[in-house]
Amino acid sequence: MLTDQQVVRYSRHILLPEVGGKGQEKLLNAKVLLIGAGGLGSAAALYLAAAGVGTLGIMDADTVDLSNLQRQVIHATPDIGKLKVESAKESIFQLNPDVFVLAYPEHATADNVPRILPEYDLVVDCCDNFATRYLLCDAAVIYEKPYVYGSILRFDGQAAVFKPPAGPCYRCFFHEPPPAGVAPSCQEAGVLGVLSGLIGLIQATETIKLILGVGEPLIGRLLMVDALGLEFMTARVKRKINCPVCGNNPSITDLRAENYCQPNCDAKQEDQ
Ligand SMILES: [Zn+2]
Repeated sequence: MLTDQQVVRYSRHILLPEVGGKGQEKLLNAKVLLIGAGGLGSAAALYLAAAGVGTLGIMDADTVDLSNLQRQVIHATPDIGKLKVESAKESIFQLNPDVFVLAYPEHATADNVPRILPEYDLVVDCCDNFATRYLLCDAAVIYEKPYVYGSILRFDGQAAVFKPPAGPCYRCFFHEPPPAGVAPSCQEAGVLGVLSGLIGLIQATETIKLILGVGEPLIGRLLMVDALGLEFMTARVKRKINCPVCGNNPSITDLRAENYCQPNCDAKQEDQ
């Protein structure tokens, strides 16, 4: 049951027939795991917290750097040098003390994800590297958790929801990681800061819809955003029956560390 304060705090949600008091209770009971407290994670975490998503797990091993503040709005100038998960936890508490934050100051690995992910209802991918992304893709299929994907680079962004068997997984779109050095990172190629807000909020929107069970989630559709032309395009992709993780005869049935290491995988992670 909602308290008097919660009825006021969430009144604009409660007014919506698609949410109402019952929907707000679903949000308060939901447990969402965010991988990365960078640009995408900042936007997603702040709005999920404001919306009253009751438990947010945040995983990121990095500390706040001056160069992050152009887009990572959950952190502020006095937070430079602090662990991002601690800075994010403080910001969320200021915004909405209803939200319980579990901070994991570590990189997502084949060791810790099997321990942590099963505790959550779904995972939001706010990371910036392919090793983590393929790990999360496979873990989400193995542990049957919806996976809310987002990615940004320069002026372009992507978002999707992967929820096999209702739709494809990330590997159905992109079978294997690109060879090292082919796909540059934001650190190498730059990113328009506001794009992390745009895509992070699409991820937050999809997360809330999945929790409430309303609308048409981005399942089976890859949303591509071109910020310069301001165009939103959607590509439809079906689940592939020969997919190595969500296909009919999967070859990937558990997480093995050696499958998720790239030559640069010790470099800075979860920073997008
Ligand atoms: Zn697949």
